[in-house]
Parts: sequence; structure tokens; C-alpha cells
Amino acid sequence: MTTHTHIATGLAKIGLFLRSENWRQADAADLSPTQAQILAHLTRRGPARVTALAEALGVTQPTASDAAGALIRKGHVARHPDPDDARASLLHATASGRRAAAETAVWPDALLGAIDTLGADERAIFLKALTKMIRELQVRGAIPVQRMCATCRFFRPNVHGDPAAPHHCAFVDAAFGEASLRLDCDEHEPADTSDADALWQSFLGAPAGQADAPPAATGEAS
Ligand code: SF4
Repeated sequence: MTTHTHIATGLAKIGLFLRSENWRQADAADLSPTQAQILAHLTRRGPARVTALAEALGVTQPTASDAAGALIRKGHVARHPDPDDARASLLHATASGRRAAAETAVWPDALLGAIDTLGADERAIFLKALTKMIRELQVRGAIPVQRMCATCRFFRPNVHGDPAAPHHCAFVDAAFGEASLRLDCDEHEPADTSDADALWQSFLGAPAGQADAPPAATGEAS
């Protein structure tokens, strides 16, 4: 086997564990894994249309629609008119839906313990490697667009001389290091298509101060 297949095998083993944990947690809350993912999405990101949920979760629209219908019957989700489009409706998590989401949104202790066996440097390297792999899957259209730093208009990679904190988040106006790269950030906004490549190349390793920073984002929070 090549290193590629060793890595793929390792990822598959971790994926198997996570899938079985997702099933176990969702089952304990009387949900399917897709229902649990919908509740988590509505709770974290607010009301959404079925089409947006399907896109965010990487499932077909009928699958998202069936799961949403089951959640409505269970009282975890309510459908309200979309104020932006009278013909459309938005799904909202109810109070019981938010409680169910909290029950199923806990990372397994076994996984956190396994991550804990890595040293700080190993975690930072692993996180950067995951960022590269996830971004490539996104570029190839294999997974939906991810809300991660490497594709965010607020990300300023390698703009600081401090090796411990070379990157900058323009949303919170703070420097940060590789170990704090986000793979699923609520504040993420996609970079313009024309800036995305320069952003990525800067992230991949242009020395501090030489990277072409993407244009300043507008409407940034401080
Ligand atoms: S807003 Fe979030 S995703 Fe964007 S750069 Fe800041 S931390 Fe990263």
C-alpha cells in the first residue's frame, strides 16, 4: 500500500467511529442522523429553507425534505413564511428542537481523548493538513462549500511575522496561529471568486509580509 492508501484507511477508520457515534447519539434522542444534523444547523445558523439545508448537509432535497417533515411532526421544527419570499417558507428550530440539538452536539470523549494524545505542534500540523484536504474536496465538488478560514473573506494568511500567530482574522481583528484555524465558523463569509486563489496561495506558505493579501473586506466587525 502507498502512503495515500494508508492515510485513506486511517481516515476511514475514524469516519467509521464518528458515524457510529452519530447514530448512537441521534438514536438516543429519537432522531435519525440527518434529522440531528438539521437541528444542529438550524440551532447554530438560524432559520433556513429546505434547499439551503440540503446544500449545507450535502444531501438530496427529498432527503432533507423527508427529515424536515419528520422533525415538524415531532415538534422540533416549525415552518414559517419566508419574509423575503411569500411563496417560500423557512424552517425554525423550536425550544424542544434546540434541546434535542444540544443532546446530540457533544463530541465523544474517546475522540477528544485521542486528539489529546497529539502534541500542540502535531495538532497544528494535522489541522493544516485537514484544511488542505477539505479544501481540495470542496474544489473537486465532492463536498459542499465549507465555512473555513482558508475560504473566508476575513482571512489574512501569513501577514504577521510572529510564527506562533502568522494569520489574521479581520472579523475579530486578531492574529492567530495554525492551531486555531477554523473548519466550521459561524462568522465565515466566502471570499470573492477572484480573490480565492491568491488567498489560498498565501495560506500555503508565502513568507510573512510577502503574501498578496486579499482586498480589505468591507463591513467588518471589530
Ligand atoms: S471569520 Fe471565522 S472563518 Fe473567517 S477568518 Fe475569521 S475565524 Fe476564520
